Amino acid sequence: MDRRTLLMTGLAGATALGLCLPMTGNAASRAGDPDSTDAPRVPAPKGATMLFDGQSLSQWVNRNNGQPAGWKVQNGYVEVAPGNGDILTKEKFRDYQLHVEFWLPLMAEAKGQGRANSGVYNQGRIEVQVLDSYGQPPRDNEAGGIYQVAVPLRNASKRPERWQSYDIAYRAPRIGPDGKQTEKGRITVLHNGVLIHNNVEFDARTTTAGLPPEGNDYSRPGPILLQDHGNRVRYRNIWILPTPEDGKVNR
Ligand code: MG
Repeated sequence: MDRRTLLMTGLAGATALGLCLPMTGNAASRAGDPDSTDAPRVPAPKGATMLFDGQSLSQWVNRNNGQPAGWKVQNGYVEVAPGNGDILTKEKFRDYQLHVEFWLPLMAEAKGQGRANSGVYNQGRIEVQVLDSYGQPPRDNEAGGIYQVAVPLRNASKRPERWQSYDIAYRAPRIGPDGKQTEKGRITVLHNGVLIHNNVEFDARTTTAGLPPEGNDYSRPGPILLQDHGNRVRYRNIWILPTPEDGKVNR
């Protein structure tokens, strides 16, 4: 096709021949942009416990009353029911690898902590923040932050209305017979496959809105807790792989 013919047939003709023409505006800036694509759905590995498979919240209860979790399940995901309350797993865990996929609504008029806020609490107490702070500098109370504990190495957020993921390696603080902490806890987090917390140490404590730190509860397993912060955040495909006790190997 010569230049004259191309001009005559226009875009349709060029496209039919597989020619690449320059794009303009948003289409150009977002083409191939990983921030605009969904994170892949990662299948649970052998030995993992499926906590939410997109169909049923049977393994979760309402934090406030222990009744069945009332968030809305549809189309393979669960959506926060604002005002219904946090939900937590019936089963409790201490050391583990946790995979969570989440989707943030675009709340164009909202700002700061009011913009698609939720949270993934480890052992019921240590929150990995869920928030739409796309494009902002990393902070401990924004996307990927360990609330009041650690600022992410980078903000690895995707744009809102895309599926994202957290992969969390969690090791609970160790508590001695006298109730005092003998070893700090440790947490590593990947956000959309990007390392944002690398073996961060933390003390046995509770970040905002987590379960109360009664006694030496950190010596015992705790639930995974998802926060109702009043925004319609969605979750899907949540699984957990408990880590063997120190010095033991699963074969
Ligand atoms: Mg939160």
